[in-house]
Amino acid sequence: MSLEGKTSQTAVVCHGGVDLRTETREIPQPKDGEVQIQVAVTGLCGSDLHYYLHGANGIFKIREPLVLGHEAGGIISAVGPNVNADLGLKVGDKVAMEVGVSCKSCKNCRKGRYNLCKNMRFASSAKTFPHLDGTLREVMTWPAELVYKIPEGLDLALAALAEPLSVVLHAWRRANLQPGARVLIIGTGAVGLLACALARASGSTTVVAVDIEQGKLDFAQEQQWATGTFCLPKGPRVSGLEALEAAEKSWAALKASDAVQSVLGLEDGFDAVFECTGVESCMQMAPMAAAIGTKVLYVGMGTKVLSLPCGPSLLSEVDLIGVFRYANTYPDALALLASGKLGNVQAMASHYYTLENAEQAFNDLRRGKDDNGKTVIKPMVGNLALVGK
Ligand SMILES: [Zn+2]
Ligand SMILES: [Zn+2]
Repeated sequence: MSLEGKTSQTAVVCHGGVDLRTETREIPQPKDGEVQIQVAVTGLCGSDLHYYLHGANGIFKIREPLVLGHEAGGIISAVGPNVNADLGLKVGDKVAMEVGVSCKSCKNCRKGRYNLCKNMRFASSAKTFPHLDGTLREVMTWPAELVYKIPEGLDLALAALAEPLSVVLHAWRRANLQPGARVLIIGTGAVGLLACALARASGSTTVVAVDIEQGKLDFAQEQQWATGTFCLPKGPRVSGLEALEAAEKSWAALKASDAVQSVLGLEDGFDAVFECTGVESCMQMAPMAAAIGTKVLYVGMGTKVLSLPCGPSLLSEVDLIGVFRYANTYPDALALLASGKLGNVQAMASHYYTLENAEQAFNDLRRGKDDNGKTVIKPMVGNLALVGK
């Protein structure tokens, strides 16, 4: 599967809302400190889907054609000049790529909190201009220090999960929980599901998952990642005080459910709530579901302005903690994926597509189901021969 003689490659390029094109691009050669990688798979996530559907992710609108994708694994096909030998990277290595390129010199970078770097350029995001192309292509070059060899025995397709798992690991570190913690996970997309898996692996005795899709909750229970689940009724998207009312109703229903009632002491709330949807009423429900003196981790993005009841935070000292991407997580995320401690994470990679079929992958992700009605957890798109699919 060498690149010998190959001069051009296929890339999946977003030109605007529902305008995805498969284009032919030149194969990039690695510059100083870079490696060239044959991309094997890219896991699609919610932000990719927003760009596909609207040509924008929240306030970040694409201003030039952009290659999507940022959860990826591949195989090194060339090593550029002056790559630090300590990294031990060589042609043929299976790797995962961390796609945020920070400046390394600002205050936050120097503190090691490079996820907060104001100069961060993140592949497949339109936040900065010119944009930085993502991983939905056959070949890319990338700074070697952001490329991690995957542990022996780890399925290359699962290397892509190191990205969403990094988000979860970062949130988990910020939560600073003890074994035995009772946690609530709101939203069971890929991040929420991995949060359930990590909570169980870290000794949480109670992991309650909520979502509006029963199929995803069933998946969480089948994998034994959730100890209890609750399917919230689907309501219209509301905002402000209307959303707050919906949040109060949701918490009342969840509190009265078997998932909560069957666990002694849980009526007072959870030791930590991981909000993984970014939906207004869910963000409002999160502090209501947190016990006195505990915390809420805001992992999902999507609501800019929020009416929050101050009671839980002020009078009950519930800490509201923001979580933005991740820093210093990749080696640990890969080790966790390889360890088997998370259970059957292979099941997360529910569907595989070629680059040419990327649009189908986006549509299946949008519907949450494939043509046969099977629940789509994480669509993987790429060079399927490289991952044996
Ligand atoms: Zn993502
Ligand atoms: Zn910086």
